[in-house]
Amino acid sequence: MNNENVVSTDILIIGGGPSGLAASIHLADIIRQKGLNHRILLIEKGGSIGSHILSGAVIKTDVFKRLLPDVDFSEIPFDAKVTSDSTIILSENGSFKLPFHVPYMSNSGNYTASLGQICRYLAQKAEEKGVEIYTGFSVNEILYQDGKVIGAKTIDTGIDHHGNKLENFQPGTRIEAKLTIFAEGTRGPLTKRLIEKYELDKGKNCQIYSLACKELWSVPEGNIKPGEIFHTMGYPLNLKEFGGGFIYGLNGNKVAVGLVVGLEYEDPTFDTHDAFQAWKTTPFVSKFLKGGKLVEYGAKTLTEGGYYSIPKLYTDHALIVGDGAGLVAMPSLKGIHLSIESGMLAAKTAAEALSKNDFSESVLSRYELSIKDSLIYKDMYPVRNFRQGFSKGLVVGSLHFGTQLISGGAGFCGRLKSHPDREATKTLSEFKGVPFKERFKGKLDFDKVLTFDKATNVFYSGVHHDEQQLVHVKVNNPESFQTINIKQYGAPEQFFCSSEVYELHTDKLGHQELRIHAENCMHCRTCDIKTPGDGITWMLPNGGNGPEFQNM
Ligand SMILES: Cc1cc2nc3c(=O)[nH]c(=O)nc-3n(C[C@H](O)[C@H](O)[C@H](O)COP(=O)(O)OP(=O)(O)OC[C@H]3O[C@@H](n4cnc5c(N)ncnc54)[C@H](O)[C@@H]3O)c2cc1C
Ligand code: SF4
Repeated sequence: MNNENVVSTDILIIGGGPSGLAASIHLADIIRQKGLNHRILLIEKGGSIGSHILSGAVIKTDVFKRLLPDVDFSEIPFDAKVTSDSTIILSENGSFKLPFHVPYMSNSGNYTASLGQICRYLAQKAEEKGVEIYTGFSVNEILYQDGKVIGAKTIDTGIDHHGNKLENFQPGTRIEAKLTIFAEGTRGPLTKRLIEKYELDKGKNCQIYSLACKELWSVPEGNIKPGEIFHTMGYPLNLKEFGGGFIYGLNGNKVAVGLVVGLEYEDPTFDTHDAFQAWKTTPFVSKFLKGGKLVEYGAKTLTEGGYYSIPKLYTDHALIVGDGAGLVAMPSLKGIHLSIESGMLAAKTAAEALSKNDFSESVLSRYELSIKDSLIYKDMYPVRNFRQGFSKGLVVGSLHFGTQLISGGAGFCGRLKSHPDREATKTLSEFKGVPFKERFKGKLDFDKVLTFDKATNVFYSGVHHDEQQLVHVKVNNPESFQTINIKQYGAPEQFFCSSEVYELHTDKLGHQELRIHAENCMHCRTCDIKTPGDGITWMLPNGGNGPEFQNM
């Protein structure tokens, strides 16, 4: 993209993950089949496609055959076909393999993969079909005219910490579009603003999230077979906390390991990164990593609210796809195929809007209707109450799930409500459980062989940020932050942040203040979700800043 300040396009897609890329590919195909010529622009904030992509991943692949009917399936860079799939109940020193599959969690026929690699491949296909892809540009403002979306603008660069223009100041580019497709993934900052402005979540459950920390390891031959996968339940989580671990065997003696933790936990000192390290020390997990080397680290949140948390997915001139729309199926924790499906359905509606030259709600509403007829509905509706059922812990959740299984998902009481994750955090004095550091005493002395402190892990994600720019995490209300967040909750962000961005500094007089090391930020968005009180807003840093994931 040159320095021109205004660019016009027919379709603007914000985000180069599976949902945005699928939308671009399918739309380009439809346009070509109709013999038409429309401009499709896709903008990605990562320095390259895939550099901000992190997933498990075990993928349901059927949707790829529909997205790329002209491609030989074996050409798509999946890793290994799943050969064995077990669920393990874990304690600190022991493990027990469940003799059956948890309903909805079978992975028969699925493939392991690096989603970053898959996205790089999809981007290549999209470009071959004429989609224009620009990486390294953060889109940080929605453009409106007469109350309607007319595109978006990339971030101004060359400004200092206070917002003053520097010599190298470059204004962002206004991208004016007939239709903007928001494909930002989990807790997308612009998607969040769009939902708020048009009250697209009115009458819906609020979205709830998990945070996942993941590492990719290179291990000696024989530690794990490609396509061998394990999911763990239990340790290091207790009966009140939701989540579990994953271990995915990959080709080339690689293994992906991760811990996913529901953010509705109560302990203000809970630390998912450190819990993940404790999980790795269990005999069951550590045997897969023995003699191996850490290759990459990363963290990301994922949307878990399910069907009742899906917002209205359209407004005049705008559609929402993928994780930004909350399209993740639980308990299988699968969103990639649903992201691609939503991208394809959005593309169909976009093509119809282009042919009618009508981008109003009346045409775009067909996208949401088409979702009700798709595998998104099929995968998400039967488990519509699954995740909310676990808000009161594992025992109550399992009971709810049991009744949902025999009642087609309705359970005891029909639609279960969800509550914002930040509201579940207790103040230091309210919290009656064992604080995190005591609970894991002896497990948090990281040896830098099997276990790593956050600073070391951040190094393995290639995170970098330009020094000269506005701090991209904003304390919403500094006054209440001091009295509520720090005094009452003990600044939980110093613990939950996956990348050591927040440090609580105490001076000689005992005054405490939060110091922000935004340069470490992994873009996981947990602070935007879990900070109690008036909270923190995660904003977009300069394009190309953030992690440099290779194969996550
Ligand atoms: C740890 C973990 C494990 C998972 N495991 C699985 C699994 O095994 N199987 C499965 O099916 N699903 C899994 N998922 C879910 C799956 O990864 C997501 O559902 C899927 O990636 C969502 O795709 P998306 O395109 O909506 O968003 P994303 O993959 O998040 O992509 C969004 C892209 O948009 C870019 N972007 C965001 N905002 C902007 C902006 N304003 N300007 C420019 N660019 C922007 C981001 O940099 C990113 O590249 C997992 C998720 C996690 C976190
Ligand atoms: S600052 Fe926020 S978004 Fe960045 S790594 Fe920490 S919790 Fe995640």
